Amino acid sequence: MTLHTALLQGTELLEAEAVLAPRLTAEVLLSHALHRDRVYLYAHPEEELTQVAWIHYGRYLHQRMQGVPTQYITKRQEFYGREFRVTSDVLIPRPETEHLVEAALARITAGSTIADIGTGSGALAVTLSLEKSASVLAGDISAAAVEIARFNAAHWKARVHFFVGDLCLALGNHSVDVLVSNPPYVPLTDGPGLQREVRDHEPHVALFGGPTGLEQYRRLTGDARRVLRPDGWLLVELGYNSVGPVSEMLQQGWRDVEIGADLAGLPRVLAARYSP
Ligand code: GLN
Repeated sequence: MTLHTALLQGTELLEAEAVLAPRLTAEVLLSHALHRDRVYLYAHPEEELTQVAWIHYGRYLHQRMQGVPTQYITKRQEFYGREFRVTSDVLIPRPETEHLVEAALARITAGSTIADIGTGSGALAVTLSLEKSASVLAGDISAAAVEIARFNAAHWKARVHFFVGDLCLALGNHSVDVLVSNPPYVPLTDGPGLQREVRDHEPHVALFGGPTGLEQYRRLTGDARRVLRPDGWLLVELGYNSVGPVSEMLQQGWRDVEIGADLAGLPRVLAARYSP
């Protein structure tokens, strides 16, 4: 079978299972099976698929048709211009979270100490560390996630120090100037309505905040009062319909509450400063 035919057939199979972007997905999976980039497929359409590549490609297509996200098959996702290793132990970094990066970069000054809570793949911590040539503390309740994050930090030679622990407990006695977090914020009641790729394959500990989805924000804003240095910034990614309730959690001592929108115009990032 030629690469050209393999792509056509793969696309058809994916289409029949209503997989989004079937052609692009087939290209990504085939180039992954060949250890080549996508351009190679177009440069060598008549090349014959080796038996090994054919077996790998078939397996990847099968996994994708079962609902496994492409990123968990290829084990990678781009975030803020860099490639990160991802496995089903970590949430796949989303483009929306790049708004959190931008908001944090705008508030980190020379000598700021920075922490990323619920780091997952480490995408936020590694990005902030590299963009600011700063060292970053990063924690996650999942030891398996921290292992992936450590791999990413080592790959990018980023100065990130990792902790395993629940929210800010992971930081021990450290205090910081900038605390960023993309916490689990999906309400448990939304579970059944999520895309199967998300619901059946991404780690629930990284997705679901609790019955209302606000639970981890409440804990995090409480913890932040202890962890933040005077005038320090808390920056969180906002879930659907959470801007009101999260803003209300920031009463005494909080000021400069600022909301940033994502490309869809939805409130996506909240930044606030704590001065007791
Ligand atoms: N943005 C993710 C989603 O909608 C959820 C990420 C999170 O809970 N922090 O699937």
